[in-house]
Amino acid sequence: MSTVDLDRWEIVIGLEVHTELSTRTKLFSSATNEFGGDTNTHIDALTLGLPGSLPVLNEQAVELAIRVGLALNCTVQRSVFARKNYFYPDQPTNYQISQFDLPINGEGWLELPDGSIAGIERAHLEEDTGKSTHIGGGGRIHDAEHSLVDLNRAGVPLLEIVGKPDLRSAEDAKAYVAELRSILVAVGASDGKMEEGSLRVDCNVSVRRRGEPAFGTRCEIKNINSLRAMGRAIEYEAARQVDLITSGERVVQQTRHW
Ligand code: ADP
Ligand code: MG
Repeated sequence: MSTVDLDRWEIVIGLEVHTELSTRTKLFSSATNEFGGDTNTHIDALTLGLPGSLPVLNEQAVELAIRVGLALNCTVQRSVFARKNYFYPDQPTNYQISQFDLPINGEGWLELPDGSIAGIERAHLEEDTGKSTHIGGGGRIHDAEHSLVDLNRAGVPLLEIVGKPDLRSAEDAKAYVAELRSILVAVGASDGKMEEGSLRVDCNVSVRRRGEPAFGTRCEIKNINSLRAMGRAIEYEAARQVDLITSGERVVQQTRHW
């Protein structure tokens, strides 16, 4: 794979950063929010999606979300939760409670160390999912013999911070995540531990010829958990897209793994 000729091409990046909030309990139940421990011990009826269990909103999660919103210059507003239906074994309720039309934090911005400004589209509250471990084959879902599900993480409060497509290089993106991470830690919202999954990044990448007014078609690379991996994923993806376009093909919008 070639590297991108930056005299002729511009890389456009928008990041979705998921951060687990440092609350004592889960977003909608009193099950403990704790990393590690034996599998399926930080759970209760609500985590398991048992009939009759009812969500009760965690006040501490709301407070932490608002602190982040204020630190990111967002419009903090009355918000509404919505159900996002999807079937997956690590989500036993078969829906994720998230925010859609009315996120708790509307538009804001973040100043990078070089003085440039990166826009924030929204920062909304939602539930984390459980964790699947695929056994057999290469440890990937495709060739696994069976899968195990740990629900300790299911229902942990997440804040999804959706950035505007304002970043223009892997270096920009790394500076953005590093700065965001410091802010999250400073306001006490997160422990910032990327290696424990407290901060996970979905990277949206597109390319366009210099001078082109419109954005190109983006691809999303999901669940990146280190700055180094993010930088490499952006450079790989940008080069892949430039190769496609220069060989007369089109970029197809899709979600990819690193
Ligand atoms: P989705 O649900 O498809 O992930 P979101 O609205 O949550 O959509 O996130 C879209 C993300 O993609 C934002 O971070 C935004 O900045 C980014 N984005 C949108 N258009 C482009 C583009 N053309 N190139 C790169 N990033 C983009
Ligand atoms: Mg998204």
